[in-house]
Amino acid sequence: MALQSRSPQQPDDVVVELEEADAGAVAAALERARAAGARWAGASALERSAALTAAAGGLAGATDELTGLMVREVGKPVTEAAAEAARGVGILRYYAQQALDPDGETYPGPGPEALLLARRRPRGVAGLITPWNFPVAIPLWKAAPALAFGNAVLLKPSPEATAVALRLAELLAPALPGDLVEVLPGGAGTGQAMLEGVDCVSFTGSVAVGRRVAVAATERGLPSQAEMGGLNASIVLADADPERAATVVAGAAMGYAGQKCTATSRAIVVGDPAPFTEALVAAVEGLAVGDPADKDTVVGPVITSQARRKVVEAAQEAAAAGGRLLTGGGAGDGAGWFVAPTLVDGLAPDARLAQEEVFGPIAVILPVADEDEAVRVANGVRYGLVASVFTGDLDRALRLAARLDTGLIRVNAPTSGVDFLAPFGGEKDSSFGPREQGKAARELYTSTRTITVLPHQG
Ligand code: NAD
Repeated sequence: MALQSRSPQQPDDVVVELEEADAGAVAAALERARAAGARWAGASALERSAALTAAAGGLAGATDELTGLMVREVGKPVTEAAAEAARGVGILRYYAQQALDPDGETYPGPGPEALLLARRRPRGVAGLITPWNFPVAIPLWKAAPALAFGNAVLLKPSPEATAVALRLAELLAPALPGDLVEVLPGGAGTGQAMLEGVDCVSFTGSVAVGRRVAVAATERGLPSQAEMGGLNASIVLADADPERAATVVAGAAMGYAGQKCTATSRAIVVGDPAPFTEALVAAVEGLAVGDPADKDTVVGPVITSQARRKVVEAAQEAAAAGGRLLTGGGAGDGAGWFVAPTLVDGLAPDARLAQEEVFGPIAVILPVADEDEAVRVANGVRYGLVASVFTGDLDRALRLAARLDTGLIRVNAPTSGVDFLAPFGGEKDSSFGPREQGKAARELYTSTRTITVLPHQG
């Protein structure tokens, strides 16, 4: 089957067109990756570390090119795309160091001469299934630890980000042994075929697909992790400066057209919502919408015409359900898939817009009477990726943080933004399996072997 990826700001620009990897191509790539992985697992940690450092250097020399391709293929505003390319370099450098970390622990054995060791070893071939919205950072925050710990990598990128994935692999290739990292272009069928042969699976994408992938992996007895959707809340306490909070929330809700799993979708305002609401509308209306290649642009297009329709329909449905459209609600009228940043209030916390991820530039304001209600509303969704709290009162922030059911909690910070040095993942429907990133990544990409050694005679 042919696959086509188009530029969302200019849909007649076909960025790449090629055949999807079918079952035969996937099986052949698996065989090559398995052989390369076995050699790689036998290399010294110093060699693996040096190769990842060299790969970081290769990427660092091509960040402008990669940035331009991200802008073109997935419509990411250039400032964010450049930051993502730089982050990719940082991720490779970080895991180059982790390759040199201790690869296990010793424990007290049955006697003083005995050795009891728990050592980490690679799984084999890591199968990565990734979305289009962070086409460099997500493949790399999975591939870099997989490689650092001695695995081969098969990457099944989102069809919408195929060109970036292929170029990324080309840029890494000179630093790595042949066949160790391979991209399998395609959609669901290619992903399913890959799941048949790999040794562990790391997925990022929607809840519906992530669940299916985790079930398929489990049926094969494979360890897996799935990072999925979010419906992230920012709680604005009564003491917070409404304008400062609004500026941060506007960027987190609408930056890259809200297409981040960590975007703010719900602003929960404790006490009088008017000052914050007014400031948020002004901040959102002040965001530059337009060509993602322009360095001032904050909100570019959404990824496809279907994504645009979904945002417009969500706004219409919210209005029909008694919500008030404070700004936005309509599609842009250029050639690209633009949609106006949209804010809604007047909805109950159980309205669809306050319950289900739209994955676009749309957010809802939910006023609450006190902190208890803020916690109830924040936790009253099936997702649990990230929450943020705005306040100058550290005691309150800590009390709230302890009660929020999310994997990440950020105080006076946007819900969006990921630190690759720290564990990343959510609660409830947002995540399945061990955490990604930081030192947590080792959990998926290695297994532990416990070794007992006793004296030969004694
Ligand atoms: P998606 O679930 O549609 O696709 C993700 C990947 O799965 C793609 O590569 C796709 O081709 C593949 N796929 C689809 N069906 C499959 C199947 N049956 N078997 C195997 N693979 C299959 O998601 P998307 O539209 O690319 O990305 C947007 C979603 O990703 C949003 O829900 C967003 O919240 C989520 N996301 C989560 C995180 C996180 O870390 N939690 C980060 C970024 C995006």
